Amino acid sequence: MDIKTELFTRANSQCELCSSDTNLVVHEPGPASGGTVATSILLCSTCLEQLTSCEAPNGNHWHCLKDSMWSEFPVVQVVAWRVLKSLVTHSWAQDLVEQMYLDDEVLKWAQAGLVGDNSSDESVVTKDCHGAVLQTGDAVIIIKDLDVKGAGFTAKRGTLVKNISVGDNPDLIEGRVNGTKIYLKTCFLKRA
Ligand SMILES: [Zn+2]
Repeated sequence: MDIKTELFTRANSQCELCSSDTNLVVHEPGPASGGTVATSILLCSTCLEQLTSCEAPNGNHWHCLKDSMWSEFPVVQVVAWRVLKSLVTHSWAQDLVEQMYLDDEVLKWAQAGLVGDNSSDESVVTKDCHGAVLQTGDAVIIIKDLDVKGAGFTAKRGTLVKNISVGDNPDLIEGRVNGTKIYLKTCFLKRA
């Protein structure tokens, strides 16, 4: 399934902010541009225009956020939070943003987009040897025999490591090889 199909399914073919079903497009709010469903949101052209235009946001349109801000999907929370934050002159929007609860990571993502500086955030994206973004839950293949220090075995080239965990260090992932949880360098891994 491609991203578009997956997004349409997730969003019930409706704009994930205002529920309109016309002129839907896939948008990546950034700054991380993984090109994945998790970093993308389905928007109608009105919402997209509002988001990307330099003009002051239209407060009336964004009343829809009082529903969509409770979305279970982080990317929708991120966009809703940013828009509400930008509606500084609307007290209802500021009230809503205070009611929102974002996980630390999601909040960091939301704030990163406000500053408009991609460079610092780009570095925490974990990538495999070909630059494909790795996320927790992904499966990878080891591309080189690796001596696992401390564990006393070699992680063989071609080994499939399922359900990896991605942490703060973009050079390492955690995964289970031979029944042992070990750290693996991402430059020796390929997304499966
Ligand atoms: Zn919309």
